[in-house]
Amino acid sequence: MRTLDSTTSLRIAVQKSGRLTEKTINLLEGIGFKFDDYKRSLLVKCLNFDVELLLIRDDDIPEYVEDGVCDLGFVGANVVEEDQAEVTILRGLNYGVCRLSLAAPKEDRLRKAEDFAGKRIATSYPGITRRYFETRGIDVSVITLSGSVEIAPRLEIADAISDLVSTGGTLKANGLEEVLNIFDSETQLIKTKKPLSEGKEELINRILQRIEGYQKAAKSRYIMMNAPGDSVPVIKKILPSLKSPTVMPLADNGMVAVHAVVPLSTFWDVMEQLKEAGATGIVMLPIESMIA
Ligand code: ATP
Ligand code: ZN
Repeated sequence: MRTLDSTTSLRIAVQKSGRLTEKTINLLEGIGFKFDDYKRSLLVKCLNFDVELLLIRDDDIPEYVEDGVCDLGFVGANVVEEDQAEVTILRGLNYGVCRLSLAAPKEDRLRKAEDFAGKRIATSYPGITRRYFETRGIDVSVITLSGSVEIAPRLEIADAISDLVSTGGTLKANGLEEVLNIFDSETQLIKTKKPLSEGKEELINRILQRIEGYQKAAKSRYIMMNAPGDSVPVIKKILPSLKSPTVMPLADNGMVAVHAVVPLSTFWDVMEQLKEAGATGIVMLPIESMIA
């Protein structure tokens, strides 16, 4: 029997306020979940599913999911790896993409892992950093800092750092050079290993399917164009990812409208080739979601 007890809701951990918050909420809204204002409360009810969000610091997410306080969590792979959390990684999500890199003052010209031997390395990721050097048998001293790691060399607290990088701008601004990437990260959807009710498992499968459709859609564009009817065979060849685009006759003699879905990665090449093949009035539209 279904109960209305709040503990039966599927509870999802989301970063309360930070780089992942908005993108995670956008993803959840994009797959059809509706929430009250998530900025006002720590526990946010979903209005149309038996789901609630727990908004917490990202560092706490793997542990909450491991302990089963939350059933799912959206968190950086860097945090999951740092904590060596006992959770199931359901899938990577292509946002919050960054890397944990070793960096040192430019003038020191460090180039490889061995060059860090005997150095003091400041980081907020002591676990990943230590393990990186341990597996290579290199002795370093790791200094744990909770923030502003990039200024540690200038303050002479450390000789080098191990820090998250996306563009590298912060490193450069601090006179540091990125030497080695030691861990690639992106946001992951993680799941507790604690046993869950059948209802929760079903809901998780639905969420996964919807995320798949949402991600596929984000990587695709819907294109529409007009073309002379006799160019359809050529156009079909240009759109290899689709066995059969939609072709509709137009009132104008000999003209057709062609509709198709194109992967974003090939979009511009395809556009140019279509123009050459005689297509006109090419319109591209984003796709909200795609179900296989
Ligand atoms: P919290 O208050 O939740 O502990 P935080 O300061 O630890 O927040 P943010 O800076 O918001 O965390 O980063 C959250 C996550 O965003 C990181 O753990 C990482 O997975 C990802 N991320 C992507 N790019 C970067 C970047 N350039 N620097 C730091 N984190 C990044
Ligand atoms: Zn954090």
